[in-house]
Amino acid sequence: MAGSIEQILSNQDYYEIRLESIGGLGANLCGKMVGELAVRYLDLNSAGFSSYGSEKTGTPVKGHIRFCPAGKEIRVHSPVVAPDLLVIFHQALTRDKGVWKGCSDRTNVIVALDQGQEESVMQNLPAVIGGCYGVNARQIAMETKSRINVVMLGAMARIMGFVELESVRQICRDSLGRKYPAALEGNLRGLEQGYELVQKLQARKDADSDREAASRDGRCPDRRDKELEDQREWGYATAPAGGVNPRSGSTVTADLSPSRQGYIPIFIKERCINCGLCDSTCPDMVFQFAKGVFNNREMMVNQGLDYYHCKGCMRCVDVCPVNALVRGIEAEHPDKQYFMPNQDMLRTPDYYVKAGPDGYITSESYLTEKRIEGGEV
Ligand code: SF4
Ligand code: SF4
Repeated sequence: MAGSIEQILSNQDYYEIRLESIGGLGANLCGKMVGELAVRYLDLNSAGFSSYGSEKTGTPVKGHIRFCPAGKEIRVHSPVVAPDLLVIFHQALTRDKGVWKGCSDRTNVIVALDQGQEESVMQNLPAVIGGCYGVNARQIAMETKSRINVVMLGAMARIMGFVELESVRQICRDSLGRKYPAALEGNLRGLEQGYELVQKLQARKDADSDREAASRDGRCPDRRDKELEDQREWGYATAPAGGVNPRSGSTVTADLSPSRQGYIPIFIKERCINCGLCDSTCPDMVFQFAKGVFNNREMMVNQGLDYYHCKGCMRCVDVCPVNALVRGIEAEHPDKQYFMPNQDMLRTPDYYVKAGPDGYITSESYLTEKRIEGGEV
């Protein structure tokens, strides 16, 4: 575990934390609480933000938090690329190579995992890492009637090593006590158990020796780790001058359809009055307007939807004034009439990158609701 924060910050500008999560597990709130904790109770300065792959439950969420001494201004507001503490809110995310980006021998990792999953998580570790810790956050959250985020907050306090349990209890009271007083007691219990029960994970002996050797001479012992090493070399700090990252913060090449949870907007073109409200409301680049004629007037006309970019949030359905967009069950519309890939972008489906840990859910139990405001489809 880490030493005192003064000791850590005497060797580096910031103490940096990255949260890797899935929408719905509360990582955003956890990140805010960690930032407030630093400012209110640790006499530090802090800055942080979250980034969302999508605006819905089930899609990737990252939190980035930096600490530095109280008198120092934080001038770096970019994502955390080389974390001191990496917190993974779901064991499934450990299979994603991107989650491990920037890990080094100074990175401590905490993973929320279910009982019996330790070995499979250890197999996903990169070659070079500080310590890896696990906590059965889901079970603790269920038993204490709390949420995974407070359990992880407790575990983080323990592994950071410079945070008193009472300080995190207090930030939990400050933050959750006001908003959800009835849930405070359970959340405090969850937090305490996260603090108490987080444990170091033991690697297999051969994996351990591989890692030790790798960390001694800076090499990576297998191909997967070599790939990780290559990715680390192409961060913003190391890319060649003039280099372009075509995917930075962009969903242009991402296939966002895994974010949908069974529903799609269905376009009923004959009802459309081309008001453009759907296009203004949609958080992504779904609606395809082109010059055309409507009511004998030349204007921009809604041609259809690029479903690769549709996250299924249904905001367009809510906003359409004439029910030209209605909610439909995706499984019942395999052909997706008016599916129009964006004409200005790369259109080869193979080129799209699958985004999101969530699957395309088609279970009958999830899709019991068939009635759609504004009409059946
Ligand atoms: S909001 Fe409805 S009516 Fe307006 S352009 Fe979009 S689909 Fe057509
Ligand atoms: S459901 Fe509608 S608003 Fe939401 S992403 Fe899809 S097209 Fe855009």
